[in-house]
Amino acid sequence: MVVVMKPGTPNEIIAKLEKKFESLGCSVHKSQGEDYCLLGLVGDTRKIDPSQIEANDHVDRLLRVQHPFKLASRIFHPENTVVDVLGHKIGDGNVTVMAGPCAVESEEQLLTIAQLVKEQGAHILRGGAYKPRTSPYSFQGMEEEGLKLLKKAREITGMPIVTEVICVETFDIVEAYADIMQIGARNMQNFALLKKAGKSKTPVLLKRGLSATMEEWLMSAEYIMSEGNPNVILCERGIRTFEKYTRNTLDLSAVPMMKELSHLPIIVDPSHAAGKWSMVEPLSKAAVAAGVDGLIIEVHHQPELAVSDGAQSLKPEKFAKLMTAVRRIAEINSI
Ligand code: PEP
Ligand code: MN
Repeated sequence: MVVVMKPGTPNEIIAKLEKKFESLGCSVHKSQGEDYCLLGLVGDTRKIDPSQIEANDHVDRLLRVQHPFKLASRIFHPENTVVDVLGHKIGDGNVTVMAGPCAVESEEQLLTIAQLVKEQGAHILRGGAYKPRTSPYSFQGMEEEGLKLLKKAREITGMPIVTEVICVETFDIVEAYADIMQIGARNMQNFALLKKAGKSKTPVLLKRGLSATMEEWLMSAEYIMSEGNPNVILCERGIRTFEKYTRNTLDLSAVPMMKELSHLPIIVDPSHAAGKWSMVEPLSKAAVAAGVDGLIIEVHHQPELAVSDGAQSLKPEKFAKLMTAVRRIAEINSI
Protein backbone atom coordinates (compact mmCIF):
# COMPACT_ATOMS: atom_id res chain seq x y z
CA MET A 1 0.00 0.00 0.00
CA VAL A 2 1.15 3.53 -0.68
CA VAL A 3 -0.34 6.34 1.40
CA VAL A 4 -0.15 9.72 -0.32
CA MET A 5 -0.24 12.51 2.28
CA LYS A 6 -1.74 15.90 1.47
CA PRO A 7 0.78 18.68 0.72
CA GLY A 8 1.77 20.54 3.85
CA THR A 9 0.90 17.79 6.33
CA PRO A 10 2.83 18.54 9.57
CA ASN A 11 5.75 16.22 10.26
CA GLU A 12 4.39 15.16 13.65
CA ILE A 13 1.16 13.89 12.03
CA ILE A 14 3.22 11.86 9.54
CA ALA A 15 5.40 10.46 12.35
CA LYS A 16 2.28 9.46 14.29
CA LEU A 17 0.89 7.61 11.28
CA GLU A 18 4.21 5.85 10.68
CA LYS A 19 4.18 4.59 14.28
CA LYS A 20 0.60 3.41 13.94
CA PHE A 21 1.34 1.41 10.76
CA GLU A 22 4.43 -0.13 12.35
CA SER A 23 2.45 -1.14 15.41
CA LEU A 24 0.04 -2.95 13.06
CA GLY A 25 2.85 -5.15 11.81
CA CYS A 26 4.28 -3.63 8.61
CA SER A 27 7.35 -1.60 7.84
CA VAL A 28 7.05 1.95 6.53
CA HIS A 29 9.23 3.49 3.83
CA LYS A 30 8.92 7.25 3.74
CA SER A 31 9.55 9.25 0.60
CA GLN A 32 9.50 13.00 1.19
CA GLY A 33 9.26 15.25 -1.85
CA GLU A 34 8.82 19.03 -2.04
CA ASP A 35 5.05 18.88 -1.94
CA TYR A 36 4.10 15.31 -1.32
CA CYS A 37 5.06 12.76 1.25
CA LEU A 38 4.52 9.11 0.38
CA LEU A 39 4.41 6.30 2.93
CA GLY A 40 5.08 2.89 1.40
CA LEU A 41 3.72 0.09 3.60
CA VAL A 42 5.33 -3.28 3.10
CA GLY A 43 4.97 -6.62 4.80
CA ASP A 44 1.78 -7.91 6.32
CA THR A 45 -0.87 -5.24 5.71
CA ARG A 46 -3.84 -7.48 6.62
CA LYS A 47 -4.53 -5.61 9.86
CA ILE A 48 -4.67 -2.24 8.14
CA ASP A 49 -8.17 -1.01 7.36
CA PRO A 50 -7.95 1.07 4.13
CA SER A 51 -11.13 2.97 4.91
CA GLN A 52 -9.70 4.16 8.25
CA ILE A 53 -6.66 5.51 6.42
CA GLU A 54 -8.81 7.25 3.83
CA ALA A 55 -10.87 8.80 6.63
CA ASN A 56 -7.80 10.69 7.82
CA ASP A 57 -8.05 14.40 6.87
CA HIS A 58 -4.36 14.53 5.98
CA VAL A 59 -4.46 11.60 3.56
CA ASP A 60 -4.87 12.51 -0.07
CA ARG A 61 -5.06 9.00 -1.57
CA LEU A 62 -4.39 5.39 -0.91
CA LEU A 63 -2.90 3.22 -3.63
CA ARG A 64 -3.11 -0.51 -3.32
CA VAL A 65 -0.16 -2.50 -4.59
CA GLN A 66 -1.21 -5.96 -3.42
CA HIS A 67 -4.55 -7.74 -3.50
CA PRO A 68 -6.33 -8.15 -0.16
CA PHE A 69 -6.53 -11.94 -0.54
CA LYS A 70 -3.42 -13.73 0.63
CA LEU A 71 -4.11 -17.44 1.15
CA ALA A 72 -5.91 -17.65 -2.19
CA SER A 73 -3.21 -15.69 -4.00
CA ARG A 74 -0.72 -17.28 -6.36
CA ILE A 75 1.95 -14.84 -5.19
CA PHE A 76 2.15 -16.59 -1.82
CA HIS A 77 1.47 -20.10 -3.19
CA PRO A 78 2.92 -20.44 -6.71
CA GLU A 79 2.06 -24.16 -7.10
CA ASN A 80 -1.41 -25.17 -8.29
CA THR A 81 -3.63 -26.53 -5.54
CA VAL A 82 -4.85 -30.03 -6.33
CA VAL A 83 -8.00 -31.02 -4.44
CA ASP A 84 -8.32 -34.71 -3.67
CA VAL A 85 -11.88 -36.02 -3.64
CA LEU A 86 -11.94 -39.70 -2.65
CA GLY A 87 -8.79 -40.21 -4.72
CA HIS A 88 -9.96 -38.17 -7.73
CA LYS A 89 -7.71 -35.16 -8.27
CA ILE A 90 -9.14 -31.79 -9.29
CA GLY A 91 -6.66 -29.24 -10.62
CA ASP A 92 -3.93 -31.66 -11.72
CA GLY A 93 -4.10 -30.60 -15.37
CA ASN A 94 -7.01 -32.85 -16.38
CA VAL A 95 -10.60 -31.79 -16.97
CA THR A 96 -12.88 -33.09 -14.21
CA VAL A 97 -16.48 -33.50 -15.30
CA MET A 98 -19.20 -33.21 -12.68
CA ALA A 99 -22.63 -34.08 -14.06
CA GLY A 100 -26.12 -34.94 -12.90
CA PRO A 101 -29.52 -33.42 -12.34
CA CYS A 102 -30.12 -29.96 -10.94
CA ALA A 103 -32.16 -31.50 -8.13
CA VAL A 104 -32.52 -34.99 -6.73
CA GLU A 105 -36.15 -35.85 -7.48
CA SER A 106 -36.51 -39.59 -6.82
CA GLU A 107 -34.46 -42.76 -6.54
CA GLU A 108 -35.34 -43.83 -10.05
CA GLN A 109 -34.45 -40.41 -11.50
CA LEU A 110 -31.12 -40.10 -9.68
CA LEU A 111 -29.89 -43.64 -10.25
CA THR A 112 -30.85 -43.55 -13.94
CA ILE A 113 -28.99 -40.29 -14.52
CA ALA A 114 -26.02 -41.33 -12.37
CA GLN A 115 -25.51 -44.51 -14.43
CA LEU A 116 -25.86 -42.61 -17.70
CA VAL A 117 -23.32 -39.91 -16.85
CA LYS A 118 -20.93 -42.48 -15.42
CA GLU A 119 -21.08 -44.48 -18.67
CA GLN A 120 -20.06 -41.35 -20.56
CA GLY A 121 -17.03 -40.80 -18.33
CA ALA A 122 -18.24 -38.24 -15.78
CA HIS A 123 -16.07 -38.28 -12.65
CA ILE A 124 -18.34 -36.72 -10.04
CA LEU A 125 -22.12 -36.83 -9.61
CA ARG A 126 -23.97 -33.57 -8.97
CA GLY A 127 -27.45 -33.23 -7.50
CA GLY A 128 -29.10 -30.73 -5.17
CA ALA A 129 -30.97 -31.99 -2.11
CA TYR A 130 -31.41 -28.49 -0.66
CA LYS A 131 -32.35 -26.08 -3.42
CA PRO A 132 -31.94 -22.29 -3.20
CA ARG A 133 -34.91 -21.35 -5.40
CA THR A 134 -35.78 -17.82 -6.48
CA SER A 135 -39.43 -18.46 -5.58
CA PRO A 136 -40.53 -19.85 -2.22
CA TYR A 137 -43.32 -21.69 -4.10
CA SER A 138 -40.85 -23.69 -6.23
CA PHE A 139 -39.60 -27.16 -5.27
CA GLN A 140 -37.18 -26.73 -2.37
CA GLY A 141 -35.46 -30.10 -2.56
CA MET A 142 -35.78 -33.57 -1.01
CA GLU A 143 -33.49 -32.57 1.86
CA GLU A 144 -32.06 -35.50 3.83
CA GLU A 145 -33.99 -38.05 1.74
CA GLY A 146 -32.17 -36.62 -1.28
CA LEU A 147 -28.81 -36.90 0.47
CA LYS A 148 -29.50 -40.56 1.22
CA LEU A 149 -30.21 -41.15 -2.45
CA LEU A 150 -26.94 -39.45 -3.39
CA LYS A 151 -25.13 -41.75 -0.98
CA LYS A 152 -26.80 -44.74 -2.63
CA ALA A 153 -25.81 -43.47 -6.08
CA ARG A 154 -22.20 -43.14 -4.86
CA GLU A 155 -22.26 -46.71 -3.55
CA ILE A 156 -23.58 -48.05 -6.84
CA THR A 157 -21.48 -46.00 -9.27
CA GLY A 158 -18.39 -45.23 -7.20
CA MET A 159 -18.69 -41.55 -8.16
CA PRO A 160 -18.06 -38.96 -5.42
CA ILE A 161 -20.94 -36.54 -4.93
CA VAL A 162 -21.17 -32.77 -5.01
CA THR A 163 -24.25 -31.24 -3.42
CA GLU A 164 -25.26 -27.80 -2.23
CA VAL A 165 -25.28 -26.57 1.36
CA ILE A 166 -27.61 -23.59 1.68
CA CYS A 167 -27.41 -22.56 5.33
CA VAL A 168 -25.58 -22.97 8.62
CA GLU A 169 -28.59 -24.76 10.17
CA THR A 170 -28.42 -27.71 7.76
CA PHE A 171 -24.63 -27.66 7.32
CA ASP A 172 -23.79 -30.67 9.48
CA ILE A 173 -26.26 -32.93 7.78
CA VAL A 174 -25.00 -32.02 4.28
CA GLU A 175 -21.39 -32.39 5.44
CA ALA A 176 -22.14 -35.92 6.65
CA TYR A 177 -23.01 -37.04 3.09
CA ALA A 178 -21.16 -34.74 0.67
CA ASP A 179 -17.74 -35.36 -0.86
CA ILE A 180 -17.75 -31.77 -2.13
CA MET A 181 -19.99 -29.12 -0.60
CA GLN A 182 -21.27 -26.59 -3.09
CA ILE A 183 -21.80 -23.03 -1.90
CA GLY A 184 -24.11 -21.51 -4.48
CA ALA A 185 -23.99 -18.15 -6.21
CA ARG A 186 -26.64 -16.68 -3.91
CA ASN A 187 -24.64 -17.66 -0.84
CA MET A 188 -21.20 -16.56 -2.01
CA GLN A 189 -21.21 -13.79 0.58
CA ASN A 190 -23.01 -15.65 3.34
CA PHE A 191 -20.05 -15.13 5.64
CA ALA A 192 -21.37 -17.31 8.47
CA LEU A 193 -21.72 -20.20 6.00
CA LEU A 194 -18.24 -19.57 4.57
CA LYS A 195 -16.71 -19.64 8.06
CA LYS A 196 -18.54 -22.85 8.87
CA ALA A 197 -17.25 -24.42 5.62
CA GLY A 198 -13.78 -23.25 6.59
CA LYS A 199 -13.90 -25.35 9.74
CA SER A 200 -14.75 -28.47 7.72
CA LYS A 201 -12.31 -30.84 6.04
CA THR A 202 -14.65 -31.45 3.11
CA PRO A 203 -13.70 -29.68 -0.16
CA VAL A 204 -15.85 -26.70 -1.08
CA LEU A 205 -17.07 -25.73 -4.55
CA LEU A 206 -17.45 -21.97 -4.33
CA LYS A 207 -19.64 -20.51 -7.05
CA ARG A 208 -19.22 -16.93 -8.18
CA GLY A 209 -21.96 -14.59 -6.93
CA LEU A 210 -24.45 -13.18 -9.43
CA SER A 211 -22.63 -9.87 -9.61
CA ALA A 212 -19.43 -10.56 -7.73
CA THR A 213 -16.12 -9.10 -8.82
CA MET A 214 -13.06 -11.30 -8.97
CA GLU A 215 -11.81 -9.71 -5.75
CA GLU A 216 -15.07 -10.30 -3.85
CA TRP A 217 -15.09 -13.91 -5.03
CA LEU A 218 -11.51 -14.53 -3.93
CA MET A 219 -12.19 -12.81 -0.60
CA SER A 220 -14.99 -15.35 -0.07
CA ALA A 221 -12.47 -18.12 -0.79
CA GLU A 222 -10.20 -16.39 1.71
CA TYR A 223 -12.94 -16.66 4.37
CA ILE A 224 -13.00 -20.45 3.94
CA MET A 225 -9.23 -20.82 3.78
CA SER A 226 -8.51 -18.55 6.73
CA GLU A 227 -10.63 -20.85 8.92
CA GLY A 228 -8.39 -23.78 8.00
CA ASN A 229 -9.89 -25.45 4.91
CA PRO A 230 -7.49 -25.13 1.94
CA ASN A 231 -9.64 -27.27 -0.39
CA VAL A 232 -11.54 -24.65 -2.34
CA ILE A 233 -12.59 -25.09 -5.97
CA LEU A 234 -13.79 -21.94 -7.75
CA CYS A 235 -16.75 -22.14 -10.14
CA GLU A 236 -17.65 -19.52 -12.75
CA ARG A 237 -21.39 -19.86 -13.45
CA GLY A 238 -22.15 -16.67 -15.33
CA ILE A 239 -22.74 -13.19 -14.04
CA ARG A 240 -25.66 -10.82 -14.39
CA THR A 241 -25.39 -8.36 -17.26
CA PHE A 242 -27.87 -6.39 -19.39
CA GLU A 243 -28.31 -9.39 -21.73
CA LYS A 244 -31.58 -11.24 -21.30
CA TYR A 245 -31.35 -13.85 -24.04
CA THR A 246 -29.19 -16.02 -21.84
CA ARG A 247 -29.88 -16.60 -18.13
CA ASN A 248 -26.49 -15.12 -17.26
CA THR A 249 -23.37 -14.13 -19.18
CA LEU A 250 -20.55 -16.63 -18.97
CA ASP A 251 -17.43 -14.70 -18.05
CA LEU A 252 -14.86 -16.95 -19.64
CA SER A 253 -12.10 -14.53 -18.76
CA ALA A 254 -12.57 -15.80 -15.20
CA VAL A 255 -10.58 -18.90 -16.22
CA PRO A 256 -7.27 -17.26 -17.24
CA MET A 257 -7.88 -14.54 -14.65
CA MET A 258 -8.07 -17.04 -11.80
CA LYS A 259 -5.12 -18.97 -13.19
CA GLU A 260 -3.09 -15.76 -12.97
CA LEU A 261 -4.31 -14.56 -9.60
CA SER A 262 -4.87 -17.76 -7.69
CA HIS A 263 -3.57 -21.30 -7.28
CA LEU A 264 -7.05 -22.71 -6.69
CA PRO A 265 -8.70 -24.96 -9.30
CA ILE A 266 -11.31 -23.21 -11.44
CA ILE A 267 -14.24 -24.95 -13.10
CA VAL A 268 -17.07 -23.66 -15.30
CA ASP A 269 -20.83 -24.25 -15.06
CA PRO A 270 -22.16 -23.57 -18.57
CA SER A 271 -25.67 -24.81 -17.63
CA HIS A 272 -26.48 -22.00 -15.19
CA ALA A 273 -24.55 -19.50 -17.30
CA ALA A 274 -26.57 -20.08 -20.47
CA GLY A 275 -29.86 -21.32 -19.07
CA LYS A 276 -30.39 -23.07 -22.42
CA TRP A 277 -29.37 -26.65 -23.22
CA SER A 278 -28.40 -25.75 -26.80
CA MET A 279 -25.58 -23.49 -25.58
CA VAL A 280 -24.07 -25.88 -23.05
CA GLU A 281 -21.86 -27.80 -25.47
CA PRO A 282 -20.33 -24.76 -27.24
CA LEU A 283 -19.63 -23.04 -23.92
CA SER A 284 -18.11 -26.22 -22.49
CA LYS A 285 -15.80 -26.51 -25.47
CA ALA A 286 -14.75 -22.87 -25.08
CA ALA A 287 -14.12 -23.35 -21.35
CA VAL A 288 -11.93 -26.39 -21.95
CA ALA A 289 -10.01 -24.57 -24.67
CA ALA A 290 -9.48 -21.73 -22.17
CA GLY A 291 -7.78 -24.17 -19.77
CA VAL A 292 -10.44 -24.90 -17.19
CA ASP A 293 -9.89 -27.59 -14.54
CA GLY A 294 -13.40 -28.93 -14.81
CA LEU A 295 -17.02 -28.55 -15.84
CA ILE A 296 -20.25 -29.00 -13.93
CA ILE A 297 -23.13 -29.91 -16.23
CA GLU A 298 -26.82 -30.48 -15.60
CA VAL A 299 -28.09 -33.69 -17.21
CA HIS A 300 -31.62 -35.12 -17.09
CA HIS A 301 -33.07 -38.16 -18.87
CA GLN A 302 -36.47 -36.41 -19.07
CA PRO A 303 -35.76 -32.67 -18.99
CA GLU A 304 -39.36 -31.83 -19.90
CA LEU A 305 -40.40 -33.38 -16.57
CA ALA A 306 -37.56 -31.95 -14.45
CA VAL A 307 -38.71 -30.09 -11.34
CA SER A 308 -35.92 -27.54 -11.77
CA ASP A 309 -33.74 -26.25 -14.61
CA GLY A 310 -35.09 -28.59 -17.31
CA ALA A 311 -34.46 -25.99 -20.02
CA GLN A 312 -30.73 -26.05 -19.41
CA SER A 313 -30.40 -29.79 -18.80
CA LEU A 314 -28.79 -31.98 -21.43
CA LYS A 315 -30.39 -35.24 -22.51
CA PRO A 316 -27.97 -38.17 -22.11
CA GLU A 317 -27.18 -38.41 -25.84
CA LYS A 318 -26.32 -34.70 -25.96
CA PHE A 319 -24.13 -35.14 -22.90
CA ALA A 320 -22.35 -38.03 -24.64
CA LYS A 321 -21.62 -35.78 -27.61
CA LEU A 322 -20.31 -33.06 -25.30
CA MET A 323 -17.99 -35.53 -23.57
CA THR A 324 -16.47 -36.63 -26.88
CA ALA A 325 -15.87 -33.03 -27.96
CA VAL A 326 -14.46 -32.01 -24.59
CA ARG A 327 -12.06 -34.96 -24.53
CA ARG A 328 -10.70 -34.06 -27.93
CA ILE A 329 -10.13 -30.42 -27.00
CA ALA A 330 -8.49 -31.45 -23.73
CA GLU A 331 -6.10 -33.66 -25.72
CA ILE A 332 -5.11 -30.74 -27.95
CA ASN A 333 -4.59 -28.58 -24.85
CA SER A 334 -2.15 -31.07 -23.41
CA ILE A 335 0.12 -31.03 -26.48
C1 PEP B 1 -27.16 -25.25 -8.94
O1 PEP B 1 -26.01 -25.65 -9.12
O2 PEP B 1 -28.17 -25.96 -9.11
C2 PEP B 1 -27.36 -23.82 -8.58
C3 PEP B 1 -28.45 -23.40 -7.95
O3 PEP B 1 -26.35 -23.03 -8.99
P1 PEP B 1 -26.07 -21.44 -8.80
O4 PEP B 1 -25.82 -21.23 -7.35
O5 PEP B 1 -24.87 -21.22 -9.66
O6 PEP B 1 -27.29 -20.71 -9.31
MN1 MN C 1 -29.77 -25.88 -11.38
